[in-house]
Amino acid sequence: MPSIIFAQKNGVFYAPDKIDESVQLPVLDGVPDPIKLNMSLVRMINSYGTRKLLGFVRGLGGRKIEFYECPSVFIDTVNIVRDLLGEAHDPRSVVSYSIPHYCDQCSAYSDIMFKYADVRPDEEGLGLPSQRCLKCGGDVYVDVDPEEYLAFILEKP
Ligand SMILES: [Zn+2]
Repeated sequence: MPSIIFAQKNGVFYAPDKIDESVQLPVLDGVPDPIKLNMSLVRMINSYGTRKLLGFVRGLGGRKIEFYECPSVFIDTVNIVRDLLGEAHDPRSVVSYSIPHYCDQCSAYSDIMFKYADVRPDEEGLGLPSQRCLKCGGDVYVDVDPEEYLAFILEKP
């Protein structure tokens, strides 16, 4: 099986759609900090892939890593394996990520992208600016349990 690589473009590494045993992680020779990984293409991460990614992050030592455009499949994995954010479990490593939304009007699900700084979760909710359905413009609602989905931010290491 050919290995699936992280393509590099303008200093950002793009993770492939599947992160499994065949994935080949980036070679960081000459790459300055922070190491930038764009996760927008990722649709599947299995346990082998999680282990490989974890080995990669642990191998960075104290180097700074930033994850961009993280889909929910990656956020779900981070919530289980907090070490993916590095030793410090710093949630700010997740620079931007999607939050699944649901539209009552047209029954469409949509993943809406937020920057880390846009979301200020507390007991009252997510503190999100209100969003519109990408299909019909209707009101959309957060389609995840915020406490669960944002555990990587809400639970201090
Ligand atoms: Zn809609």
